[in-house]
Amino acid sequence: MNEVVQVSSVTKVYTMGDQRVEALKGISFSVQRGEFVAIMGASGSGKSTCMNMLGCLDVPSSGAYLLEGVSVGRLSKNELAEIRNRKLGFVFQGFNLLARTTARENVELPLVYARIPAAVRHQKASAALARVGLAGREDHYSNQLSGGQQQRVAIARALVNEPAIILADEPTGNLDSKTTVEIMTIFQQLNRQGITIIMVTHEPDVAAFTSRHLIFRDGQIIGDTVNANPTQAGEETRS
Ligand code: ADP
Ligand code: MG
Repeated sequence: MNEVVQVSSVTKVYTMGDQRVEALKGISFSVQRGEFVAIMGASGSGKSTCMNMLGCLDVPSSGAYLLEGVSVGRLSKNELAEIRNRKLGFVFQGFNLLARTTARENVELPLVYARIPAAVRHQKASAALARVGLAGREDHYSNQLSGGQQQRVAIARALVNEPAIILADEPTGNLDSKTTVEIMTIFQQLNRQGITIIMVTHEPDVAAFTSRHLIFRDGQIIGDTVNANPTQAGEETRS
């Protein structure tokens, strides 16, 4: 099955007292396995609401969301948690690593929840850290790592369960421009290895590394464009 994500006529309505906010007004799109998608749009346009749904943290008010063909709207809280752990990897702006904990232990965390035996956890965490260029740093504590290294640990943690999708919400928002390029280069490498990535960003320079741009405005998708020539590492200073 090639469609990892199918979103059909999804609405999301928040009500607070007699206030009613239509955060998503009937959006539809699908994502094929192996795509690298940027979600863009002004503040308040519905990006986070959409990501929360894709991440099974929230369900649509109407319409359907299928993740690998499974309708998420019908699942219980426990089933959603199970899907999150098994099928999704999350990367956040603020890294969200445990303090006073080693890189390896942070990466092993999703495997602990999945009840994988310790020896296998160890081996998988080392392999994931190697994929993000952190071989040899397994025993460093998160507070001994730079921001870029911390974000790489977070990417390794997102990868370790071999998820169907990595969801990243402004993953370079806290990083300087040189480190941003490093992180985007890692995402590109992982994507070339077949990993599907959906990433929210405000910044055109960051979106330029992806191969598709979904543009949100006022709870609707107003643009869905292919980026035929994504920026490659080393090119970003050319223009
Ligand atoms: P973005 O991530 O693009 O900035 P959001 O998805 O966070 O946009 O928000 C879309 C709209 O929904 C905004 O008008 C926002 O105020 C509203 N909204 C988001 N979350 C909630 C919530 N939990 N309760 C009420 N309104 C919300
Ligand atoms: Mg947001």
